[in-house]
Amino acid sequence: MHLSPRVLLLSAAFLAWGALRAQVDTTGYGGPDGEDIFEELVTDAEEATVEVSRVARAIGMLGDVNDSLSVIPGYDMYCHWNTDLIFDRARTSRFMHDTLCLVLSETDDDHAMPCTGHVTSPFGPRRGRMHYGLDLKLRTGDPVVCAFPGVVRISKYNRSFGHVVVVRHHNGLETLYAHLSKRLVTPGQVVAAGDTLGKGGNTGRSYGSHLHFEVRFLDQPIDPSLLFDAEQGRLKAKTFELNKGTFEAMAAAKVAAGSRKFHVVRPGDTLSAIARRHGTSVPMLCRLNGISQHRVLQIGQRIRTN
Ligand SMILES: [Zn+2]
Repeated sequence: MHLSPRVLLLSAAFLAWGALRAQVDTTGYGGPDGEDIFEELVTDAEEATVEVSRVARAIGMLGDVNDSLSVIPGYDMYCHWNTDLIFDRARTSRFMHDTLCLVLSETDDDHAMPCTGHVTSPFGPRRGRMHYGLDLKLRTGDPVVCAFPGVVRISKYNRSFGHVVVVRHHNGLETLYAHLSKRLVTPGQVVAAGDTLGKGGNTGRSYGSHLHFEVRFLDQPIDPSLLFDAEQGRLKAKTFELNKGTFEAMAAAKVAAGSRKFHVVRPGDTLSAIARRHGTSVPMLCRLNGISQHRVLQIGQRIRTN
């Protein structure tokens, strides 16, 4: 994609700004007492304006600073533009208390399903851990396209995600596309809905070609199936309402996922009997406990069952 020199210059300013911001103590959005989220946003946005202004002057950039800020989607909410850190996990404990209505679509061509495959694994607890995305079937080499217009924040290789791309959108949402075989975009690149971000694959911690697709807001994961009907390949609605409950449901699922259950082996127990009793399978028990199907069980041994 062709980028004008001005956009490139602005991208450079934002990278420098991100580095500066990393040294500044940032404030969260919405405290424990449920203060108004927007009040804090204004404070941070003012701080951000000063930072960008300083960077812009430092590199001799001309033009209107407020104009340049508008190039970073959701800058007033995040106050950072980090092209290396996939998500800021420290931020995930900061819950919002206000209801926010995000506009997802205004026209027919401002959104797209990242790939056409069916769902092979939903968002939610999986094998005792949280699965923060939607797994969509594809063949290696199939195009993976951008869900909404925005700017590429991350395009890198990660041990878990493999080749991964994260795009920041104008409403503050971020979408993540993982396990790609090839990335075709770079950080700072402006993308439209339906633009090819890369090719599907099986890189990172992945067993079989698929797309791991995540949706996040201020680094907090949201079930993509609340926004998309993946089987039909379309958006569920033109707007999406975010509130405290959106993240509370996710937190509850995470707690449930983390509550591991164990079976203490008694005389006469077999793996298949334990599997039946706990509603699981012998291969799953073997995987969870790192044992083979022929393992002789010891009385009193603890077998993890979920
Ligand atoms: Zn996944």
